[in-house]
Amino acid sequence: ILQNSIESSFINKTLTNSIILTTFNDFSNWARLSSLWPLLYGTSCCFIEFASLIGSRFDFDRYGLVPRSSPRQADLIITAGTVTMKMAPSLVRLYEQMPEPKYVIAMGACTITGGMFSTDSYTTVRGVDKLIPVDIYLPGCPPKPEAIIDAIIKLRKKIAQEIYEEKKILKKGTRFLTLSHQ
Ligand code: SF4
Repeated sequence: ILQNSIESSFINKTLTNSIILTTFNDFSNWARLSSLWPLLYGTSCCFIEFASLIGSRFDFDRYGLVPRSSPRQADLIITAGTVTMKMAPSLVRLYEQMPEPKYVIAMGACTITGGMFSTDSYTTVRGVDKLIPVDIYLPGCPPKPEAIIDAIIKLRKKIAQEIYEEKKILKKGTRFLTLSHQ
């Protein structure tokens, strides 16, 4: 009995110090939120703020974010800048080329509402969510790099709450822009 009790306390102590129990869902969420790879996508001035994150001052990489040039290697798109009607089909195409699960951060007033072009421009998409589903809206003109990091942290919290099966089944639909005036 004494031997059993010694062995049992040894096993309990060893296990609690060296083994972490979790679910596949939590492990999968943790892996994805820790290694978001954003597509390099910028159409105007907002992208300058995004680009500054890549330098040593803000050190984007410490969040596991590795910017990619190919949509097939990216699972996040930060739409930085004005989206024009001519650019819209290309943006939808890029989004569709990204593998699931994938995420979208709409960055800046122009992307979210059309910004300064929202009243009398026939060339600008008045809200990128008319084209692709948006996970996080990041307002500002332009949003500061700190605000982009805050949006990333909010997205990471959202991913942490996801249920794997739901995400697998749920296919995010894309909506094609009708080229008529909005
Ligand atoms: Fe430029 Fe402001 Fe529009 Fe961003 S929101 S693209 S900074 S005008």
